[in-house]
Amino acid sequence: MDREELAFLRVKLESMLELRLNKSRAAMETMSQAAMSPADAVDRAAMETQRHLELLMRERDLAEIREIREALARILVGEYGACRECGEDIDVRRLRARPMVNLCVSCMTGLEREQNRGRDIAEDMIHSFGQEISGRILETA
Ligand SMILES: [Zn+2]
Repeated sequence: MDREELAFLRVKLESMLELRLNKSRAAMETMSQAAMSPADAVDRAAMETQRHLELLMRERDLAEIREIREALARILVGEYGACRECGEDIDVRRLRARPMVNLCVSCMTGLEREQNRGRDIAEDMIHSFGQEISGRILETA
């Protein structure tokens, strides 16, 4: 990757980080204000739901903040733009769209496939376990 491209992506990462840090600070303030305001049961229930959603969004933001910081750290050590699995260069178009990615497309696809396979295996186990249990119930009945 050439220096200009790297500088561009670095600026992009830094502004993304800034944006998320500001948002996260603002969210914290709203949350502490909400916690102090009195509310009846209905309001409280709505507030709980709202709070839950905010927490989920916050978790996602924090994960992204971590990813962005890791990407910036990779720039510093000169490892930015290389796939963390196979070491191949990640497609620049992919980095421009999402500069914090650390996997190339083929490793990403492989990982997703593996995760899906893991889920299938878990479902199979649950299914056969269920059959075994119902089989035993039939035997003892
Ligand atoms: Zn790769």
